[in-house]
Amino acid sequence: MQLIKTADFLTKHLSFLRTEDKNVTVGFIPTMGALHAGHLSLVEESVKQNDVTVCSIFVNPTQFGEEQDLVTYPKPIADDIRLLTEANCTVLFLPPVEEVYPKAYKHKTYALDGLDLKIEGASRPGHFQGVCNVLDRLFTLIEPTNAYFGQKDFQQTVVVKKLVELINSPTKICVLPIAREPHGLAMSSRNTRLSDQGRKNAAFIYRALQQLKEDVVTLGVTKALDKAKQFINAQKGASLDYLVIVDTDTLEEVDNLGDSNSVAALTVVEYEGVRLLDNIYLKA
Ligand code: AMP
Repeated sequence: MQLIKTADFLTKHLSFLRTEDKNVTVGFIPTMGALHAGHLSLVEESVKQNDVTVCSIFVNPTQFGEEQDLVTYPKPIADDIRLLTEANCTVLFLPPVEEVYPKAYKHKTYALDGLDLKIEGASRPGHFQGVCNVLDRLFTLIEPTNAYFGQKDFQQTVVVKKLVELINSPTKICVLPIAREPHGLAMSSRNTRLSDQGRKNAAFIYRALQQLKEDVVTLGVTKALDKAKQFINAQKGASLDYLVIVDTDTLEEVDNLGDSNSVAALTVVEYEGVRLLDNIYLKA
């Protein structure tokens, strides 16, 4: 695996590969590091589907609201390099901040039809505009054939599909299922902040979503949501940020499953001081 730290070298390297073989396919996985099996499932899929796989590790300051979360974000870079090498990743792009945002860089605002303002965006103002700025920059540098994202960050996948439309990017967005810990908790780099017991207990979030998927059929959306919210709030130390049932394209809340062709439940629960995201398709 080649480790590249500058934008200039990255573009030169990729254009060299493209002159050698003009049909070369490039898969791209943007990450913030502290890699786990969820990230690696994206890398593995890219390695299968593309000639070259580029993974980036960049803890993007513009998508963090709280300074504390940015400062304490885990950065086990030696482990990450080992895992990516073992997964046969071709290039790791590991830039310092000034390579992604040079002095002259002007932060852009994207017209995302409000997709960035609701649900997770309402809890984290500016977050998705930060995500779009970094992805626009990385997509422009890398020009990937395919880019891989996890369903775990559901709203992000909807925003990214809108972004590629807005910037006329030919990159295909591939969304892969959520990798889970043995107890059911969705894998996340932030899970390392939970205690061992907390990590097991936090499986109640996925249990709530699975039960909700059953209940919504028999009880309907409103009653099933109320029941799930009560269950989550009854867990010691848990505080529900949101639990919503939405159309998967517009992210608008639905009152009945029949109102939309594709419906998912999205949630964030704060547990042991950690924001834990999860979601489940109720209808696909
Ligand atoms: P992050 O490093 O948290 O920015 O995540 C980088 C990519 O990995 C994003 O597309 C995430 O959705 C994806 N990802 C994170 N956790 C998981 C998971 N448990 N399963 C599948 N993909 C994931």
